Amino acid sequence: MTQRVALIGNPLKRRHSAVMHNAAFAAHGIDASFELRPIGPEDLAVFFAEARGDDWLGFGVTAPYKQSAMDHLDEIEAGAIAIGAVNNGVRHDNGSLVGFNTDASGFMAAVASTGVSVAGHGAVVVGAGGASRAVVWALLDAGVEAVLVANRTPERAREVAEHLSSYGTVEPAPLESPALAKALGSAAIVVNATTMGMTTDTVPFDVTVLPETALVFDLVYVPPDTPLVRSAAARGLAVCNGMEMLVRQGEIAFERWTGIGSTADVMRDALEAWIPDSETER
Ligand code: NAP
Repeated sequence: MTQRVALIGNPLKRRHSAVMHNAAFAAHGIDASFELRPIGPEDLAVFFAEARGDDWLGFGVTAPYKQSAMDHLDEIEAGAIAIGAVNNGVRHDNGSLVGFNTDASGFMAAVASTGVSVAGHGAVVVGAGGASRAVVWALLDAGVEAVLVANRTPERAREVAEHLSSYGTVEPAPLESPALAKALGSAAIVVNATTMGMTTDTVPFDVTVLPETALVFDLVYVPPDTPLVRSAAARGLAVCNGMEMLVRQGEIAFERWTGIGSTADVMRDALEAWIPDSETER
């Protein structure tokens, strides 16, 4: 019996998850397939009933269902509850479905792979959407001293700070503010959690004001080589891109589905060898 995993979302423009998970299934001789399942909101209940079947290992969830999927699960793990979103889940042998969030753990695994230590230091996250919440929670959970969240729409930065204030010190700020400039000057890690670099050819902050020891982390993975990644590397700073986070969060989910870990190299190689069909998939 071929086992199954599906990613639900709408629209599903990108095939990165299918490419890397199917490569890992093949590399480990597992008879399973990862499929993309674009569905409407009215199909969520039917999908999650199907995913309880014997042939299912688990599922992935992307926009716009990272919150609404939670209503269809039997259990949601603590990190996903804190963040307010699931992006993956596993089917247990009794057919129950457990949701969790690998954006947070994948982000921290990618940070750890750089060797930069962030615990006890300050962090800056630019952006206040869904990815920002996962990253801010992950940084607080990893023991950073404080996170400054800066956003184009300041109200959304305030919402993130309020949502996560029980997990540590989170300060909101507008872009171009003195508070952001000050925090950038002493941060151990600065994260781009906006779509800048993907939808625009701009950088979300000025890398020249960062300490020499700072890690610059760009969540954008299409393209992996954003203007921010290029300018931080040109300054000689430690850099991590969104492709590494995508791979690391995939590795964590894959281990939950199969019990097999250490698949990051297979997944990364598959993505690097893959030639996307269209500009939006790159
Ligand atoms: P989202 O919820 O749509 O939030 C987008 C954010 O970008 C908001 O803070 C928005 O500010 C800001 N923004 C958009 N255009 C801007 C501009 N021109 N100038 C300044 N700010 C701008 O998106 P998301 O789901 O959080 O995702 C954010 C990024 O992370 C995306 O590029 C996504 O692909 C990436 N991501 C990567 C991974 C990975 O594994 N590598 C995982 C998740 C997400 P306003 O609030 O002012 O609109």
